[in-house]
Amino acid sequence: MNRVRAAAPQLAGLVPYDPKYLPAEAFLSANENPRDVDGELRELIGRRIAKVPLNRYPDPLAGGLRDMIAEANGLDRDHVLIGNGGDELLFNLALAWGGPGRTCLNFPPTFSVYAANARLTNTAVVDIARTEDFSIDEEAAFERLAVGDIDYVIVASPNNPTGLRCPQAFIERLLDATDALVMVDEAYFEFSRQTARPLLATHENLVILRTFSKAFSLAGVRLGYILANPAVIREFVKVRQPYSVDAVSQAVGEVVFEHRARFEPGIREIIEERGRVAEALRATPGIVPFPSDSNWILLRMEDAGEAWEYLYEHGVLVRDFSATPLLEGCLRVTMGTPEQNDRFISLLRAFVAERGSRRAQAARD
Ligand SMILES: *Cc1c(COP(=O)(O)O)cnc(C)c1O
Repeated sequence: MNRVRAAAPQLAGLVPYDPKYLPAEAFLSANENPRDVDGELRELIGRRIAKVPLNRYPDPLAGGLRDMIAEANGLDRDHVLIGNGGDELLFNLALAWGGPGRTCLNFPPTFSVYAANARLTNTAVVDIARTEDFSIDEEAAFERLAVGDIDYVIVASPNNPTGLRCPQAFIERLLDATDALVMVDEAYFEFSRQTARPLLATHENLVILRTFSKAFSLAGVRLGYILANPAVIREFVKVRQPYSVDAVSQAVGEVVFEHRARFEPGIREIIEERGRVAEALRATPGIVPFPSDSNWILLRMEDAGEAWEYLYEHGVLVRDFSATPLLEGCLRVTMGTPEQNDRFISLLRAFVAERGSRRAQAARD
């Protein structure tokens, strides 16, 4: 047959996730670590990979890495599950707790993958918009939860792309107020230094998501994990692809996790750069940076789309959110190396100055 019947109805009109990754000299658009894994560690990784049997299926649950992560978090292995990036585990959440007739609670503007996964799995999404300063409208959230039909909730802390972590007291109240599964997405917790982990001991309905893609420089490898109570992990195991975490990724992850202290200086540098860049942005007329607990800064300005173009033409790629509801006029810049950040700041200042003189010229004409 030279035709094909329609795909599943929930795909109609769905736009695939597009990270808007374009060739550039400075990639400040995807919240990656600007520094690759160092040479010494690469050497160790190479040696470990050389011993991986490539003809055998991998350990389905990545036992080695699972035990290391469990131990580092004071838990045992049945509280941990490794995934093919955090993204796979976010999809597994929608498969296991969502589906037709089920509902999730979402706090936009936030990571767009949450709503996309809900849509793919025919899960209804209830959106509670964040307030002007991008904090969660707590009373609206509790009021909605009281209806009793919410099956899962996702709270990103820090929230991507807005930047701040979620108050710990709210997370605790949320966990107490509902039996819905509450996912706290801690993809950037190494930069925010705050975790909901202690609440696992008292809250069966908590699941925490982490990733190797940001602080640990492994976005190219695809490794993430969740921490949760065993009853929750068991449900995630039912929906996952058995071999989603390949043997090479497991080996890389083990070496990197074992040596994770090496990433500390880089993390500290990014936190310092965040302060320095925010200050430079505040000192630039017409630019309003939002506070951040993560490895990026969201800023608001006039002509954000044009500024994005200008930066891109000069080799610096940032993320344009100006077409996203509630993020009008906003760009997100990932903290790069100090040199990349300097370049970003001076280009943005040049854009603002050029626009200023163009306007003055236009007013004279
Ligand atoms: C980057 C990110 C993740 C996970 O990314 P992976 O590369 O798939 O591990 C999860 N949540 C948020 C908010 C992120 O920004």
